[in-house]
Amino acid sequence: MTEKGLLIVLSGPSGVGKGTVRQAIFSRGEREFTYSISATTRNPREGEVDGVDYFFKGREEFEEMIAEDGLLEYTEYVGNYYGTPIDYVRKTLDSGKDIFLEIEVQGAMQVKERMPEGIFIFLTPPDMTELESRIVNRGTDESPIIKQRMEKAIEELSLMRYYDYAVENDTVENAVQKVLGIIQSEHLKVSRILDTICVDERE
Ligand code: 5GP
Repeated sequence: MTEKGLLIVLSGPSGVGKGTVRQAIFSRGEREFTYSISATTRNPREGEVDGVDYFFKGREEFEEMIAEDGLLEYTEYVGNYYGTPIDYVRKTLDSGKDIFLEIEVQGAMQVKERMPEGIFIFLTPPDMTELESRIVNRGTDESPIIKQRMEKAIEELSLMRYYDYAVENDTVENAVQKVLGIIQSEHLKVSRILDTICVDERE
C-alpha cells in the first residue's frame, strides 16, 4: 500500500515570508513537493503569472467555485477572495506526494476541520516592526492596504495556538531547516507508515 502524501499547511501573517520559505524548500530538492496553486480575485502583481502564482478569477467565477463545492477552503482577505481548489489537493495526496498549502489563518482553520490529519505550521515574524517593514519594503501595497494587512496580522497571531508547530522566520535558512525537520519527523510517525510495512508479529 502506498503511503498517502502529507498535507502541509504553511500559514501565518501576510509578509511573514511564507512564499520565500516555501520556494527555498522546493529549490533544495530534498523531497518531491507539490504546491497547491490558489485561486484569487486579487489583481496580479507585476511579474505574477496566471496558473503559476495564482489562478486569477473574477468575483462571479470565484463564487461559482464556492457554489460547486470546488474549494477545500476559502476566505475574503482585505477585500478579495482567496481559496484552495480541492480536486488537485485530493489527487496529489492519493498519488502519495506531499502538498504545500500557503494560506492565511482563517482558511487554515477550515482545512483543519475538513482534514485534521494535515500538518499545521505557523510561521511567525521575529517581531511586528520587522513584519511591517517587510510588507512596506515589498513595495506592492498602498498604505491603507498595509494598515489593513497589519491589523489582520495581529488578529492572525492570536490564532497560532491552534497550530501543531510554530516556526520563527528569523532567517530563511533557519526556517527552512525547521520546516524540513518537521516534515521528516511526520513521515516517520508509526501511525502513518503502519499500513505500508510488513511487520512479522511472531518476533
Ligand atoms: P497576497 O495578496 O499577499 O498574495 O495574499 C494575501 C494572503 O492570502 C496571504 O497571507 C496568503 O498566504 C493568503 N492566501 C493565498 N492563497 C490563499 C488561499 O488559497 N486561501 C487562503 N485562505 N489564503 C490564501
